[in-house]
Amino acid sequence: MNQEPDVIPSDSTPSPVRYTQFVLKVSKFCNLRCTYCYEMPNLGDRTQFSRDQLQQLYRNIAPYYRMRAEQDNRPTEIRFIWHGGEPLLVHPAFYWDTFADQQEIFGVNQPIANYVQTNLTVLDDERLRLLREGFAGTGVSLDLYGGLRRNLAGNDQQTRVLRNMDVLKKREYSVWMYYCSYEKEHRPDQGNLRILCPSWIRLSSPTFVRRCIRRSASTV
Ligand code: SF4
Repeated sequence: MNQEPDVIPSDSTPSPVRYTQFVLKVSKFCNLRCTYCYEMPNLGDRTQFSRDQLQQLYRNIAPYYRMRAEQDNRPTEIRFIWHGGEPLLVHPAFYWDTFADQQEIFGVNQPIANYVQTNLTVLDDERLRLLREGFAGTGVSLDLYGGLRRNLAGNDQQTRVLRNMDVLKKREYSVWMYYCSYEKEHRPDQGNLRILCPSWIRLSSPTFVRRCIRRSASTV
């Protein structure tokens, strides 16, 4: 877990809300074996946060932000960013339970938002509901180059991820992409696209990314 500093608005007008983020690696367990993953030795480890541990975490955090709000009458929106491993391998019931605990421990006056960063290879009705109703937004990990995002059998999963992104896009979920690899040593054999893509990849549709990947392969 780590905490990033508050976001301070750049203009001189005080913002009514501060933001702070806690990035929670709920578990290192993952169904993929991306070639560049720095957690490779731990991806089979199913250890995860317990509900009790998270309750204690919330109890530790809550008084500080209550005190800050009392000091200057400005609430802080606390954002929990759920990472892994692959956080959607954890059963949705776990998240509903911990969201309920957040409500109880922080109280109704404390703004809370939960986000998830996922490889989006596992998507079913329960997880669709979780992404829609439980999380304020979904970040999807993707690569600009194929052949890196592999499952345990070594098969590329990029197409599956793009297909699942299409599902979310069509249903108008709040979703964005993070491309995880673009460095030369990560590229299997193709493309000079890294110069072109960083600025627009987060805004583009899965179809556009597919086109981008195809064009990348054809430019070398
Ligand atoms: S999805 Fe993330 S955690 Fe899983 S293997 Fe790929 S980089 Fe590692």
